[in-house]
Amino acid sequence: MKKVVFFTDEAKISEALDNFDLSSFEGKRYPFKLHMGEKGNKYFPRPKTVGKVVNKLLEKKGTPFLYDTTVAYNALRKYKRGYKKIAKIHGFSKLGVDIIIDNKGVNVNFENHDYEVGETLYNSDCVFAFSHVKGHIATGMGGAIKNFGMGGVTKETKRKMHHASRPSYKKDKCTYCGVCAEVCPFDAINVKDNEWNISLKSCFGCGVCVENCKEGAIINQDKDLQYLLACATYACVKDKNVLYLNDVNRISKGCDCDPGAGPEICPDICYLVSDDPVAIDKASLDLVHDIKPDIFEKENNVNPLKQIEYGEKIGLGSSNYQLIEI
Ligand code: SF4
Ligand code: SF4
Repeated sequence: MKKVVFFTDEAKISEALDNFDLSSFEGKRYPFKLHMGEKGNKYFPRPKTVGKVVNKLLEKKGTPFLYDTTVAYNALRKYKRGYKKIAKIHGFSKLGVDIIIDNKGVNVNFENHDYEVGETLYNSDCVFAFSHVKGHIATGMGGAIKNFGMGGVTKETKRKMHHASRPSYKKDKCTYCGVCAEVCPFDAINVKDNEWNISLKSCFGCGVCVENCKEGAIINQDKDLQYLLACATYACVKDKNVLYLNDVNRISKGCDCDPGAGPEICPDICYLVSDDPVAIDKASLDLVHDIKPDIFEKENNVNPLKQIEYGEKIGLGSSNYQLIEI
């Protein structure tokens, strides 16, 4: 059983970290993987909390630096300079550690797909991951797996993963029920008078339409986004010592990439620490589910459990965990 440490008081960060062997981090300079939030978003990780974790890690003799990759969509974080500007606006430049944003990557092939892992991440053998748990328009929930699966790869790989999840239409199976058009968050599908049309310009490749078509009339052009997410995470963390902290608070409907991510859909719960990305995401999902059953699925029309199940299937980790409250 994988150990997942549960705490609510930030004063217990050090005690939580002490449950895991950090000896391989000592004397190393290593990435502290963090989504620093898009402009306008209100729910991203709090710099005060991140600062406390960073200070505890510094006491344990390694040197973390804040780390992320540029994004594929048009926003400030698309470029390194813009991302650093956002990091400053959001208060992360005051934490006294370097901020490194990667725009280039190194190719890792896994299960017949290529993933360009951010080059700094690729070249590190230890990583600390701070992941904010929240809803997500394309994956239902975002946690540790999302933090690496989308956040640890280059914008070219992000784009490729979304394109692979676009719908491929089978006219003979379509009943023109219109469900796919209703659930599409980007209004990319139009169903009218026994005609089905898609605007590829508007399609984000989230795969929500595929998941909600009960007739099998649309399938992913290549693979389910949550499968690709689990595989990309594997490519990012393979052969590394990684410790994961999930911040299960300020649980918004949408992602920290989204300026309109609100409202909060579940009360604050806790922080979790584990050395297994599957276990920590499963524990996060279960804790939210206990308070607000199926809330991520209800809000985003996507079952978030898939990324966890895929992760377990490909050997990323185990969903069999033991919660240890401190
Ligand atoms: S949900 Fe499926 S069956 Fe219904 S209109 Fe869309 S593609 Fe056709
Ligand atoms: S993949 Fe997402 S954005 Fe594209 S048509 Fe389907 S629901 Fe809409």
